[in-house]
Amino acid sequence: MNTLSRRHFLKLMGATAAVAASPAALRAQTTSATGRVVVVGGGFAGATIAKYLRHWSGGNVAVTLVDANLAHVSCILSNLALNSSMSLSQITFNYEALKQKYGVNFVQGRAAGIDNDKQQLKLDSGILLDYERLILAPGIDFAAIPGLDSSLVPHAWQAGPQTTLLKQQLAAMPSRGTFVLTIPKAPYRCPPGPYERACVVADYLKRKKPGSNVIVLDANPKIMAEEHTFTTAFNQTYAGVIEYHSNVLLNEVEVVSSTKRIARTSQGNFPAHVLNVIPPQKAGKIVFDVGLVPSGQNWASVNPLTYESTLIPGSKIHIIGDSQGTSQPKSGHIANAEAKVCADAILRAFAGEEPDPAPVTNSACYSPITAKTASWLTAVFAYNPNTGAMEAVPESFGEAPAATEENYEKMFDWAGNLFGDTFA
Ligand SMILES: Cc1cc2nc3c(=O)[nH]c(=O)nc-3n(C[C@H](O)[C@H](O)[C@H](O)COP(=O)(O)OP(=O)(O)OC[C@H]3O[C@@H](n4cnc5c(N)ncnc54)[C@H](O)[C@@H]3O)c2cc1C
Repeated sequence: MNTLSRRHFLKLMGATAAVAASPAALRAQTTSATGRVVVVGGGFAGATIAKYLRHWSGGNVAVTLVDANLAHVSCILSNLALNSSMSLSQITFNYEALKQKYGVNFVQGRAAGIDNDKQQLKLDSGILLDYERLILAPGIDFAAIPGLDSSLVPHAWQAGPQTTLLKQQLAAMPSRGTFVLTIPKAPYRCPPGPYERACVVADYLKRKKPGSNVIVLDANPKIMAEEHTFTTAFNQTYAGVIEYHSNVLLNEVEVVSSTKRIARTSQGNFPAHVLNVIPPQKAGKIVFDVGLVPSGQNWASVNPLTYESTLIPGSKIHIIGDSQGTSQPKSGHIANAEAKVCADAILRAFAGEEPDPAPVTNSACYSPITAKTASWLTAVFAYNPNTGAMEAVPESFGEAPAATEENYEKMFDWAGNLFGDTFA
């Protein structure tokens, strides 16, 4: 990150500018409802709702936030840790501001189950937390792939030690080496993310490991986001470096030792010096454990007006962020927006009111394409009362016409704004 963008990033990190505040969310600021809420997961969805429930209720709603860790490492911008453009410490956020500025009660622990009748959340330590409303925002879990050991073949799709492991493997890769990246069938977390990773790694290898190549094995029939941008990047910017294959199904990944990595697929075997398998994804484990995912499906079914479970109606359990199963993309930006819609609905419920009948959310993603350029993608989603679903507003779709240095600078403004609105 250059000096200018770093300064902007740090300045914005101190700000609490509203990101994606829907009209519904703005109305909620006047409420004086009281209640007791427990939130599981302190990522983009959970930290945002904990903060805004306190903020918009004037401190009248008691909020306990539970996370397995003392700090959250953001996936957003984490691909830039792979080429050392950023350090993980720059994208690690603790919960001090939520505690000190907003009075959120933070508990480190892992949610292990609920007692629906008593309205109690159980932590694996044995602690029981009473709630009137429970929010589950645990992000994603991964489907098992036979033979895959993520301590040898990292996914780096949850940022932290996995990101560090992938970075170390890339640093140890020989020149003229092969990096193989597998992409699962959609929906998965961050539609442009895997293609962004292919570009960032290709850029790094071009500079540091001459003669190396990147093989992208995509289970989908085509590039799932910013198709024009990534096609141009693969065919022009990284011509001769990135090789893209669509409709590749992973049969098995063989990891015999830390040095032998082979992706076995419907289109043959792909040996790699560094193998990065992003497994198929599903709702966080706790959401399955408490029975909030319909049989044979991967995501919690919710009412998009409130994010309350439709599988156990009246349960007072809401699921937001990547674990929920509306048609909105799985992104940190939209998780932040969903959290505000859900906070508004809960505050209205505490006040005996109906939820906002017309919620609107939005998403934006910046993708680094080289160490100096980036692209972006944005869309707005609105509730359609005829279908009961959140649907993309067609004219709201926007995509950068080209990857530019200006976009790269703006990426840090956007991210700093979102980080500040969520954690500061
Ligand atoms: C490489 C990459 C790049 C990305 N880039 C972008 C981008 O540019 N823009 C964008 O908008 N999105 C981006 N995303 C997607 C974004 O990171 C996710 O959509 C977002 O993190 C989802 O938020 P969440 O709150 O649902 O889950 P998370 O942010 O993953 O948070 C879940 C939290 O729950 C906690 N937890 C889980 N289970 C339990 C439990 N049982 N008990 C207690 N705590 C628990 C975890 O510790 C974690 O802190 C990117 C993702 C990746 C992988």
